[in-house]
Amino acid sequence: MTHDVVVLGSGAAGLTAALAAAQTGVDVGLYEKSGVIGGSSAISGGVPWIPLNHHQDAAGVCDSREEALAYLASLSLDRMDPAMAETFVDHARETIVWLEGTTEASFTLLPRYPDYHPENPGGKPDGGRSLDPGLFSYERLGAWQDKVARSKRSAHLKITDTTLGGGTGQLSDEELQRRMDADLRGCGNALVGPIIKALLDLGVEPVVNAQATDLVVEDGRVTGVRLLVDGGEQVVGARRGVILATGGFEWDADLVAAFLRGPMTAPTSVPTNTGDGLRMAMRVGAQLGNMGQAWWVPAVRIPGDTAFGQQRSNLVNRERTLPGSIMVNRAGRRFTNEATNYNALGGAFHQLDPVTFTYANLPAWLVFDHAHAVKYGTFGAPAGSPVPDWVTTAPTVRALAEQVGIDPDGLETTIDRWNGFVDHEADEDFHRGDSAYDRWSGDGDHRFLKASTLGRVDTGPFHAVQVESGTLGTSGGPRTDTSGHVLDTHLEPIPGLYAVGNVAAAPTAMAYGGAGGTLGPILVFGRLTGLAAAAELTIS
Ligand SMILES: Cc1cc2nc3c(=O)[nH]c(=O)nc-3n(C[C@H](O)[C@H](O)[C@H](O)COP(=O)(O)OP(=O)(O)OC[C@H]3O[C@@H](n4cnc5c(N)ncnc54)[C@H](O)[C@@H]3O)c2cc1C
Repeated sequence: MTHDVVVLGSGAAGLTAALAAAQTGVDVGLYEKSGVIGGSSAISGGVPWIPLNHHQDAAGVCDSREEALAYLASLSLDRMDPAMAETFVDHARETIVWLEGTTEASFTLLPRYPDYHPENPGGKPDGGRSLDPGLFSYERLGAWQDKVARSKRSAHLKITDTTLGGGTGQLSDEELQRRMDADLRGCGNALVGPIIKALLDLGVEPVVNAQATDLVVEDGRVTGVRLLVDGGEQVVGARRGVILATGGFEWDADLVAAFLRGPMTAPTSVPTNTGDGLRMAMRVGAQLGNMGQAWWVPAVRIPGDTAFGQQRSNLVNRERTLPGSIMVNRAGRRFTNEATNYNALGGAFHQLDPVTFTYANLPAWLVFDHAHAVKYGTFGAPAGSPVPDWVTTAPTVRALAEQVGIDPDGLETTIDRWNGFVDHEADEDFHRGDSAYDRWSGDGDHRFLKASTLGRVDTGPFHAVQVESGTLGTSGGPRTDTSGHVLDTHLEPIPGLYAVGNVAAAPTAMAYGGAGGTLGPILVFGRLTGLAAAAELTIS
């Protein structure tokens, strides 16, 4: 079997690259390791962050190239390649126009969803750069309707229905029934569904249970790939190029230990992301970049809760933002603004105490009072329902601390201090509630006010849950140029080899601009990479 372009991995990166290539008329082969397609992209929120997108025009959002670049630069910590950032910003708008023009994708602005550091230069406190992919009927996929990865949590919810997206997380019975009848799916499924449909219409039929294991190199050029397809070895040729889109290495303990800057014990992505693409790229001499980094997220592991046959790690976003909860370390001290964005918060978990030579903030616990539990529910248990028995509960703060192994004096002091901050509406330690972002996904009754996130912890019994350092996916890998060509250790393109998505060094490096900060660049560079590979000189 030989194609013009071979794409490995069927997440948003692989799908957009495959579509862009196929639309030029070349023959594309799309190979996926898992038994279902879509990868983490399909189980994600599905939100892309797209500066200057055309939906801003009707909504009256002001944005500019200068603002977008200044904003990304403010988050770069001198790690971002300006050429990559400029390519992203310059091609962002046209990528969404392309998706809406050539597939059934239909985005809307996520109303008022703030950028993640909205007060930085060029940041948008009132949002305008994060897009909702809406709903897509999976009946449109025919035989592929049930072969796409899905999340039971968000199955029929649009991102705007979720609490993170500003909704209640609930649908009326009639609306839920309507969506179930038409198999209307939102979030990540709504993002990947239209692209899959467009690929199928062009005759690109993904091959599942096909794990790429090695690249074929002839005379210094990548000319194909070795795969295990349903357990049997196959070699597939690539006349123009091979595109690595195999996701990150977060599920491979060796690679995590070798590269990530600090502990990461809770990957939230699909478990087939084991760094296969990274290993293949290293083997042919790729230069690596951004290797210590991941898209960080605090996570909770609920006993017995599984996804794709593995322990599930749940994102902890809402619970730590809502009033009546704080996060503490083993000394019982708060160590961050709990309501800050999940990616930046990862840094707090990696703070090394030079004296004890331990991670100062691991383990960490979310501590909340019973008023919080009753009003907001607990990790999926609805408001008003009993607190699940896997949560540690005690009648007093001191008893709670003793049960989980937190310093009791420290926790009592911290909670007294916190309650004082709440009474004066000013978190003097970590400024929780000062940023527009902190006030976004808290208590909707106090939307946009500090009270949406500031609340006393004073109503027993008290509860604690261990919070882990998790990731949405790693963001380091082979370095590429602006068209996705993988670079070797002399920074020369490796002929015939491309990479895009979490398998590659992220174009924005550590910068996570706002909701959609990973998928935005992935869609943009997915398209550019597909076009570049399709245009590469054919080998005979
Ligand atoms: C719960 C959750 C919510 C998220 N929400 C958002 C959001 O709203 N916005 C945002 O920007 N980001 C979000 N993210 C992050 C985002 O989903 C990822 O950054 C993005 O999906 C990565 O896309 P990708 O195509 O690189 O990888 P993936 O989508 O993970 O796809 C990689 C694919 O490659 C396959 N593969 C692996 N190895 C091989 C091999 N050897 N051969 C063939 N195939 C292989 C995998 O099975 C997988 O299907 C979220 C992540 C999670 C987990």
